Parts: sequence; structure tokens; C-alpha cells
Amino acid sequence: MTVLVINSGSSSIKYQLVDPESGDAIAVGLVEQIGEVSSRVKHTYNGVKHEFEQSLADHGEGLRFVLELFESVGPNLSEAGIVAVGHRVVQGGKHFDGPTLITEDVRNVIEELAPLAPLHNPPNLRGIDVARDLLDVPHVAVFDTAFFQTLPEEAARYALNREVADLYGVRRYGAHGTSHQYVSQKAAEWTGRDDLKQIVLHLGNGASVSAVVNGEAVDTSMGLTPLEGLVMGTRTGDIDPAVIFHLSRVGGMSIDEIDDLFNKKSGVKGLAGENDMRAVWAMADSGDENAREALDIYIHRLVKYIGSYAAVMGGLDVITFTAGIGENDDLVRAEVLERLAPFGLTIDPEVNSERGDHIRRISTDESSVTVLVIPTNEELAIARQAMDVVATLA
Ligand code: ADP
Repeated sequence: MTVLVINSGSSSIKYQLVDPESGDAIAVGLVEQIGEVSSRVKHTYNGVKHEFEQSLADHGEGLRFVLELFESVGPNLSEAGIVAVGHRVVQGGKHFDGPTLITEDVRNVIEELAPLAPLHNPPNLRGIDVARDLLDVPHVAVFDTAFFQTLPEEAARYALNREVADLYGVRRYGAHGTSHQYVSQKAAEWTGRDDLKQIVLHLGNGASVSAVVNGEAVDTSMGLTPLEGLVMGTRTGDIDPAVIFHLSRVGGMSIDEIDDLFNKKSGVKGLAGENDMRAVWAMADSGDENAREALDIYIHRLVKYIGSYAAVMGGLDVITFTAGIGENDDLVRAEVLERLAPFGLTIDPEVNSERGDHIRRISTDESSVTVLVIPTNEELAIARQAMDVVATLA
């Protein structure tokens, strides 16, 4: 049995055909530059990458092309036993606390939630609509926000005027929930304990941190949108909201300009000129002071969140690093953990510098907190959650 996992973006469709039991990705692909003169398609099956340039006007044409590739290049979807399609959906608002079978009503709610995620929900929905037309199997929505529906009100509600907040749905919904859930479950399996106070650091281009107690999220750094929290590749993360008033009144900037500045031209890129951490470390090593300062700010914010979440949870058993930077950047891990040494955290530098796709403990036996590196796998998590929903239909 397999599940086709679809992550539909504004001009792209990422997909994977996953065997939810073994965890294998049977085929992996990406359609990019949909709607442009020439779209690019990459489809990998049996270790061979096939690349195409093709004019694909919209998501429907894109997905139709992908389905033809499954026929011509393989694997044949019906022979591969496809039983469901799992769709990544960024914003589920207060409506969805788990994977959900997509009916007409569910589809309409995802559409209604678009104002809360204007960049994400509309393209997610486009993927859902065309895939439901083309593939006659159950379609399941897996929401980035679902894992954070357990947040207590004290963490989810901003100290914003209650009437205004409720009228416009302004609260902390979080994001990257599928990854935080998957990784925190793996950490519980790895330690053999489910009564854990955990911090998960999902450090990719987007970055977020969550506090998880006994398997339930109790706080997270992303808020109404994925802009809040940690320093990210191109996003500010936490910033005094009065900076917006200041840039508008004194700098004469429009709301759209400030939105663009905060989301696309800030973070590590805005500070150092580059957002790939490998480049930033290389610049810092060659004496670039802005790059070194960007790293300091990045690490400072991480340490601050770890400290505050340990306090919120009243203790801390496990810290887990995941995603592109969390899994690969041993220097970021080392600098963060060095600053936590006064609290009894000690790491094994040799294990920390190991590379690979395996789960590893980088703390020592003596460390007050277990520190793990766990590769995330959002596609597998989506596939398994889709299977859970399919199982309830039988
Ligand atoms: P997203 O899914 O948010 O686009 P990823 O989780 O794939 O991001 O992370 C991408 C980031 O991971 C890159 O921008 C880069 O900064 C970082 N990264 C990837 N490999 C390494 C590495 N070997 N060392 C340091 N950073 C890395």
C-alpha cells in the first residue's frame, strides 16, 4: 500500500509516493515554475532522476503531467497500490486538530481560512482540487497547525484586545506541526519514555521551536503566521511590533513593503547577505563581522527560547535538533549547547560532528539533558496520518 503525498505551493508541486509501513519514498518529484513559459519537472524513481522542461499553465496541467510520468517512467500508481493522497495544508485554524478526510465541506473551510494564510492555503487548495479531480482515492488533509491545537490558552492567546483578537481570529496557531509531532514521537520512542519534557528545534530555512510535555505541545514559537519566533533564513522572527509603526511613520514604507522586508529580506540573509548557513559560516571564518554577528543573533535567540521553554515546562528532559540546519550544522548545535553548559548540559564533540541520516544522541552520559539529532520526515508523517484516516473508513 502506498500514499501519494502532495505539497502544493504557489508555483510548485512537491510530491512523494511513500510506503507508509516501511517508510520508503518510492518516487520523489517536483514541478517548479508553474505558469511560467517553461516549467521544470524532476521525477526520481529507482534511483534515476528524470528531468523535463515543459510549458505547464497551472496546477491542473502540472499534476496531469506528473500522473503521466507515473505511467511512462513509473511506478504505475495502481500497481504500486495507491490507497490515499495526503495533502499538506498550512493553516487549519481552530477547526482541525488532526488529519481529516477531505469532503466538500472540509475543502470549503480550508478556503475560508485563506485570510489567515494568504500565501499558503490558496495554493494548497489548488493542489487539493486538481488531485481530487484526477485521483479517485480518499484525499486527506494534514495540517501544519493541528499539533498545536493542544496549546493552553495562556500560550495560544496574545495579550491583544479580546474582542479584536476574536473578531479576526488572531491567536497563535503555530506551524511545522507535522515535523514537531513526528520528531517528538521519535524522541519518545528512542528514549523509551513518553513522560518527557521536550524541546524540539526545527531549524530549516523556516525555523520554529516547540515545548512538548507527555507528547502534547504546550508552546511554540510561530504565531498567527510563520513570521514569529526564531531568527530564520529570511524572516525576522520576534521583533517589537512598534517597528512596523516606526517604519511606516518615519520611513514612509507601505504595509506591503514592510511585509516583504520582514518575510523575505531579513533574518540571516538580511544580517549577513546570505541565508545558507554553510555560506554564512564560511564568511564568518574569513573575518566577515556581519556574518559572525548574524550567527550570534541566531544562537542568542535559540538559547533564549530553550531557557524560557524549560521554565514554562518546569524542567527539561530532551532537546532535539532537526531539519536542514538542525540535522547538519554541528557548529550551530555546539555553540547553542556550549551556552547551556552552566545548566549541566554536556555534549560529545565527536558524535556531534558525525554526519548521516541516523538518530543520534550528542549529549554525554553525564549531561543533565539528553540532546538528540533526529532527521525529520514530513512526507512520511503525512503518509502515515493519511493511512490512519483511511483505516477509519474501512
Ligand atoms: P526548508 O525545508 O525550510 O526549505 P531545510 O530544512 O531543507 O529548509 O533547510 C535548508 C537549510 O539548511 C539551508 O538553507 C542551509 O542553511 C541549511 N543546511 C543544509 N545543509 C547544511 C550543512 N551541511 N551545514 C549547515 N547548514 C546546512
